Amino acid sequence: MKKLSPRILLLIIAFLICAIVSIVIGFFNLNSDGSVSWSFIALSFIISILSLLLLLLAVNVLIFKKIQTLLLNVKNFRSQSDYPSVLVEYSPNEIDNLDSEIIAWATDRKNEFERLKKLEVYRKEFLGNVSHELKTPIFNIQGYVLTLLDGGLEDPSINRNYLTRAEKSVDRMIAIIDDLEAISQLETGELQIEPERFDVTHMIKDVVEAQELKATARGIIITFPEETKPFFVFADRFRIRQVIVNLIVNSVKYGKEYGETKVRIFDAGDNISIEISDNGIGIAKEHLPRLFERFYRVDKSRSREQGGTGLGLAIVKHIIEAHNQSINVMSTEGVGTVFSFTLKKA
Ligand code: ADP
Repeated sequence: MKKLSPRILLLIIAFLICAIVSIVIGFFNLNSDGSVSWSFIALSFIISILSLLLLLLAVNVLIFKKIQTLLLNVKNFRSQSDYPSVLVEYSPNEIDNLDSEIIAWATDRKNEFERLKKLEVYRKEFLGNVSHELKTPIFNIQGYVLTLLDGGLEDPSINRNYLTRAEKSVDRMIAIIDDLEAISQLETGELQIEPERFDVTHMIKDVVEAQELKATARGIIITFPEETKPFFVFADRFRIRQVIVNLIVNSVKYGKEYGETKVRIFDAGDNISIEISDNGIGIAKEHLPRLFERFYRVDKSRSREQGGTGLGLAIVKHIIEAHNQSINVMSTEGVGTVFSFTLKKA
């Protein structure tokens, strides 16, 4: 049998109570000849039913209207709208609606609170990292300048050397600030991607040529198959060049001396995939999930020694994601690393 709703059940019980009360009153008010007055019972039943309906109406007006206002406020609060919505229809399910609205609202607030808590931790960590990164070159410069002022300036065996070192630290600070600026512009959306049609094969050849000098200093050869045909993509030319440069520079920095960096392009339907691989130090499995985080480095001292800011891969990921494309990394410690990313064909 279908279960009756609590409202219908309550109404049936109220009707029954009204009927019983009317009959009882009727039995206490017998006719003068001692018979039961059914007309009196019917009258008292009608009066009690009418009072009940009146009571329900009062409850509707006083309580449900208040609940409707509450529901409206919660709904407007949740949607954060400037224009309050209006509930025109009366619904007997108002209390249930209010209940679910409040639960949904509380869940939203809880999620928002968790997100803000995470952001707060992230912000503190970021500030700590920035000041730590800038402190090292600043202290270095301070040390060189003090030594020079303490008489080093007149000592030809160290003066030029210390000034060159101080200049290196200044370059490092500029590199950190440039990368921070790029990241913050990418994150705030201030830096818009400006896609255009260009030949990425030509761009890779150009970058490989520009990086050859740095690579040969470590005995590394950068190879890109000569026969690779032109691949036209639709992307931000300047930003994609930055991605390719960062990945090739990393493959040289963390590559094995006298090793090899290979750049290849694969056709992947609507996209192309660009792969940059090296046979260098590789990255242990536990570091891979955090590799694209800002300032995350596997070997901090090696990175700094190579002039790294720890922001290169974070910038690369931002750029690729701003193009709605993806980047992947595969690596084996001691064997080598492969970075691959996709771009939309023009
Ligand atoms: P960095 O300025 O330190 O190079 P990146 O964001 O470019 O910063 O890279 C983050 C870290 O990832 C590096 O410090 C390095 O430990 C690791 N890494 C990046 N590329 C490679 C690679 N090709 N081989 C091995 N490790 C790499």
